[in-house]
Amino acid sequence: MKIEETNVKNAIEINEYGQPYINPYYGCSAGCPFCYWLSIKGWEGKIEVRLNIAERLEEYCLSMGEKKERVYIGSYCDPYMEEVEPQYGLTRECLKVLAKYNIPVTICTSARSKIVLRDLDLFVQMKRLAVITELCRLDQMDQLQKKKEHMGIAVANQLYADGISVCATFAPILPGIADVEEIREKLNPEITIYVDKLYAEPGTIQEERVMELVEQKRPELLAVYQEYLNGEHKELDTYVKKYIGNKNIRAFPIEE
Ligand code: SF4
Repeated sequence: MKIEETNVKNAIEINEYGQPYINPYYGCSAGCPFCYWLSIKGWEGKIEVRLNIAERLEEYCLSMGEKKERVYIGSYCDPYMEEVEPQYGLTRECLKVLAKYNIPVTICTSARSKIVLRDLDLFVQMKRLAVITELCRLDQMDQLQKKKEHMGIAVANQLYADGISVCATFAPILPGIADVEEIREKLNPEITIYVDKLYAEPGTIQEERVMELVEQKRPELLAVYQEYLNGEHKELDTYVKKYIGNKNIRAFPIEE
């Protein structure tokens, strides 16, 4: 993975729902075949490190006045990637600024590294903090299937034990490849899991990558997945729906 240092004009971007968010990095090392951002040319294969983001964030916070709108950290990056965050610490620097101005924060991370727990000292000071851990990460699902530690589960359980507001997402469910039951068994039952099905339009890079994954992992399911992605297979919708409302598993969207 290529790493490039850069600077930004603004720390804050606004998403399609009008919510302010920060990405201390641009790019992601997780390699999810269904990733929405794969459609953006130039996004894959590198991580941009936004060296001045905390400085720019402080300017934004100063301009906010009394208005304390919730800020989200991590959309087209995982803010706790082990390739960059231990060295650059930009997520930690941003959190320090947000804590100083008492801004409500939601962190979205795959928690594929225990580096998340480094920031517990800040988390406990931030009264309106929420952490969303995304647990459908294929390298971690492989770990689970080998009876080894799934880092995202371990991190979420630890955060919960330390009194941090935490929920989990498992999106998408990949029937026969990544199933939420395995997660529910190991994750603290008090932590809600929000699930969603797979979205990958025909002819997109996501469809191509998902089908490569199915071919590699469960070639006998290729026809089933192809029908599913073409929107013709209702059985898998049912498969997703069967979890909703059971064992603290709910459907998207996440409740604030
Ligand atoms: S962790 Fe999120 S941003 Fe990173 S590749 Fe996976 S879906 Fe994309």
